[in-house]
Amino acid sequence: MSGDASEGGVSPGPQGAFPSARERPTDDSRRGGRERLRGDAGQTRRIALAGQDIEYRLVRARRSSIGMEIGLSGLVVRAARWVTVRAIEEALAERAAWIVRTLAAWQARRREVLPREWKNGAPILYRGSELALVLHPARRRAVAADLFHLTVLHPSPHDEAQVAAFVGNWLKEEALAALVPRVAAFAARVAPTLPPTRLSNARSEWGSCNHKGEIRLNWRLVQLPPSLADYVVAHEVAHLVEMNHSRRFWALVETMFPGHAAARRALGEWTALLEA
Ligand SMILES: [Zn+2]
Repeated sequence: MSGDASEGGVSPGPQGAFPSARERPTDDSRRGGRERLRGDAGQTRRIALAGQDIEYRLVRARRSSIGMEIGLSGLVVRAARWVTVRAIEEALAERAAWIVRTLAAWQARRREVLPREWKNGAPILYRGSELALVLHPARRRAVAADLFHLTVLHPSPHDEAQVAAFVGNWLKEEALAALVPRVAAFAARVAPTLPPTRLSNARSEWGSCNHKGEIRLNWRLVQLPPSLADYVVAHEVAHLVEMNHSRRFWALVETMFPGHAAARRALGEWTALLEA
């Protein structure tokens, strides 16, 4: 998988503009205690397009055009508060063919996050790329990734449950090995000590940071493009200093991870991976 989000902006048109980079951080902010990093909030709505019942998320944002993005998490529409739902639905109807086609393509990708069948050639997402599984019988178990393949050596390569469990553990080890040094690197800039870091298997969040300064990072971050995983780490480490989503928090994130707004938006495209 290329990992690039399908943007309304790929085809020309007024609604195709990218969402404004100055968009306000959305409102998962002042939730005391445990902080969650997840996709933008927004209102879920439905519309019939080309004879299909389509669900979309409507996010109100400061922008002049109606923006449409389709990614792993579905269709997201961004529009200013003053734009009526009717105007939004007219814009969606105009792009109905594109929306239905692109959603179908992403739904197909979504199924390919982890293999449905752990067999040769099955697609698996690793560091933002879709690799093909290659299974070989071997006495010693091992996993190796190259640009195109995830090669698995296993005594029982035809036992899908065993292969799935083995590769699942390997992904978690890879996640820890990749993420912990990034936590250390970011923390060295803002915190007096290295925060305790553990992996999570949460279905709803990429990462979290609690009041005790403990960081949890979702093992599925190893399936994202590394720059997006890095943004999540920077975000959680910044919470060691600011346990909120205040302006000061986002300013700190920006110093740690310049251009964070684009990464934050891109991460939204991968949110469905958490549920896959
Ligand atoms: Zn946060």
